[in-house]
Amino acid sequence: MTPKTKNHIGLRTLEDISTLILKSHDLHETLQNIVSVVARRTLSDVCSIYLLDDDRQTLRLLATKGLSRRAVGRVTMKVSEGLTGLVVEKRQVVALQEPQNHPRYRYFKETGEERYHSFLGIPLFDRNIPIGVLVIQSRAPRRFSDEDISGLSTIAFQVASIVVNARLLDSIQHKEAQANRYVEALRQAAGAPRPSQPEETAETTRESALRGVVAYPGLASGPAHVMSAEHGLTDILDEEVLAPEQEKALLEEALEKTCIQTIYLEKRMAERLSQADASIFHTHLMILEDRAMQQRLQEEIEEGHGARYAIEKVIGNYVEAFERMEDPYLRERAADMRDIGRRLLANLAGQSPHTLHLKHPGILIAREILPSDMAALDHEQIRGIVTEAGERNSHAVIMAKSLGIPALVGVRGILKKVAPEEHVILDANSGLLHISPGSQVADEYHRLEEDAGRQLHQIEKFRDLPAQTRDGVKVVLRANVGLVSDIDIARRNGAEGVGLYRTEFPYMIRPDFPSRDEQYQLYSRVVKEFNGLPVTIRTLDIGGDKALPYFKPPHEDNPFMGWRSVRVSLDNRDIFRTQIEAILMAACHGPVKMLFPMISGIEEIRACKAVVEEARQNLSSQGIAFQADVPLGMMVEVPAAVQLAERLAREVDFFALGTNDLIQYLLAADRNNALVNRYYDPLHPAVLQVLHNIASIAKRQNKGLCLCGEMANDPLNLLALIGMGIREFSMAAPFIPRMKMMLSRISSLEAEDVAKQVLEMTESSEIRASLTKLLKTTDSSF
Ligand code: PEP
Ligand code: MG
Repeated sequence: MTPKTKNHIGLRTLEDISTLILKSHDLHETLQNIVSVVARRTLSDVCSIYLLDDDRQTLRLLATKGLSRRAVGRVTMKVSEGLTGLVVEKRQVVALQEPQNHPRYRYFKETGEERYHSFLGIPLFDRNIPIGVLVIQSRAPRRFSDEDISGLSTIAFQVASIVVNARLLDSIQHKEAQANRYVEALRQAAGAPRPSQPEETAETTRESALRGVVAYPGLASGPAHVMSAEHGLTDILDEEVLAPEQEKALLEEALEKTCIQTIYLEKRMAERLSQADASIFHTHLMILEDRAMQQRLQEEIEEGHGARYAIEKVIGNYVEAFERMEDPYLRERAADMRDIGRRLLANLAGQSPHTLHLKHPGILIAREILPSDMAALDHEQIRGIVTEAGERNSHAVIMAKSLGIPALVGVRGILKKVAPEEHVILDANSGLLHISPGSQVADEYHRLEEDAGRQLHQIEKFRDLPAQTRDGVKVVLRANVGLVSDIDIARRNGAEGVGLYRTEFPYMIRPDFPSRDEQYQLYSRVVKEFNGLPVTIRTLDIGGDKALPYFKPPHEDNPFMGWRSVRVSLDNRDIFRTQIEAILMAACHGPVKMLFPMISGIEEIRACKAVVEEARQNLSSQGIAFQADVPLGMMVEVPAAVQLAERLAREVDFFALGTNDLIQYLLAADRNNALVNRYYDPLHPAVLQVLHNIASIAKRQNKGLCLCGEMANDPLNLLALIGMGIREFSMAAPFIPRMKMMLSRISSLEAEDVAKQVLEMTESSEIRASLTKLLKTTDSSF
């Protein structure tokens, strides 16, 4: 059942504004459009946006509907002056009737301001720092409801992120122009020719195997399908140029074709992977329709260049600018720009859409996989993926996860080393790619592959069997999901519902914050697909290494210890409440639990619960269907939460053990830093003691406990965890059948015995040896 949506200022206006943002191409124009929409929707006489100048002390009127347009850009006031300044000073909403009676009231005649009988000022923040104010005034006295204020606060949040993004883009362009000027000046000074592209650092080792980062584990071998990067953007060629009008017409045509193709690609991707994976093409359309970019392309042509040169130069500049960004997510967007550039050039040259027909199964080798490749590739023929580029959110990783095939990313020099059809062995368990391996290596892998194949065959049998130990103790294995395509993988692997739904991914691949309804649609789809099995939805866990394109975190020296996760949510209450409302609404469709990440103290979990209460009230006052008594839980992943676990347990219905973070914080060893890999040890005595402690507290207080970190994927760790009494796990779904098989060979009593022993041990080598010994005696294949 779809919940009723009441006519509500905030929500409808937010939808209008999201559309506006998609259509607008310039900050001032966007802000001006926003104030017009907000004034109209709120039936107000005036809506204005003031932003703080660089001095952080002066507020400047930047857009208005209702005040004199001549005042825009001119009217300024100090933060210490007037009611608008008061909003910045207090960093909170100021709502007044008869504002002229307030001691801070000040009359600005330049604005043509009449006497207004109501004033509402909402602060705009960039993270926690005020950047301006959204002001609404009306001649008639009026009182804004809490609901309206909350809706308008969400709009203020959107306005703030547009401003922040526009400034960011400006600063990239500024830096880019400055860098170009320096290069040009240096070249002229030296009378030097145009510099060539720097040579890529060639791999000089004679290794027959290249190393990379495992994106998805497994073994595969076969001929290499080498995907060349067609139409690279690096070489700007001399060319014959037609008259500017003709070049502009060619450019127009290429842009139009590319837009149409983008819509087609979105559809194809939605069919092959999922709607969520496909939404990246929305962003491509926005970029293609961006007026500033189109203008730059035209300017190049007006300067006497051809359309091809214009595309290569303009897109190339964007690519470089993105590649220089510190933020990993934004850096990844360079791939999207390259994809757009490649398709524009192909359309300009009149080439048919890029498709890669794979005649037989093999390992796909590419510099990187762009969104259009994901849509075009013949998935059935891909046994594994290896890319030269590689970060956590790359499209290659998304594709490998969606298809459940082994993948290695960040393999340097790969394209120079592998020839098309050359035989390769991908060992995405150890992070190695063997190229034309000698017979010994090939034989060894052949054996391993056969074993893996046999094991796979055996493992297959466990897919639909219950998870239980040899002596019949039941264990619950659920899936960690993020993408919609993970749902199918989870079901195919026999997951008993979802133990951790990481909601940040749908947020990451969109151009702006999803509305409540969009979130509701998405969450309820996941809930329905699991057909009565429980789904634990975790609230937004951004920050650390996960950023949103429209919500750039500040530069932090220690992002994992910084402004991340629930801290961001609690500082942006409206966005937080909106997400919670969507979760409560989705809970009408099946058993849902709500999980709060990174809790480090009692106040935080209480603050989260207060937002849940607010969400319940809001939904009931709007007459929207929702489930009120959704179980609430918290991730135990910060050492402080471990210390306070006894007290925290009284505040929640369940704990989720986030061992990925917990281990890194306990042992001060970054989970993504290969240099400290050996310090990141799940079998460290301190880690085991903490896990045992949490398991005992949860049991004593009769609270649910699910361990959802990666450590459960390793049989040794699993043995210790079962021995400590942990009975519920959530993991990447392809591991589930394997873990069921593992469990079927373990005796819970033996596991308990060994756990007791290892908890007394002081060194992890000793712990490892004990667990290995037991596994070897119970499982001959180990
Ligand atoms: C964890 O920290 O263990 C966890 C499951 O969450 P994430 O990997 O998303 O931080
Ligand atoms: Mg975590």
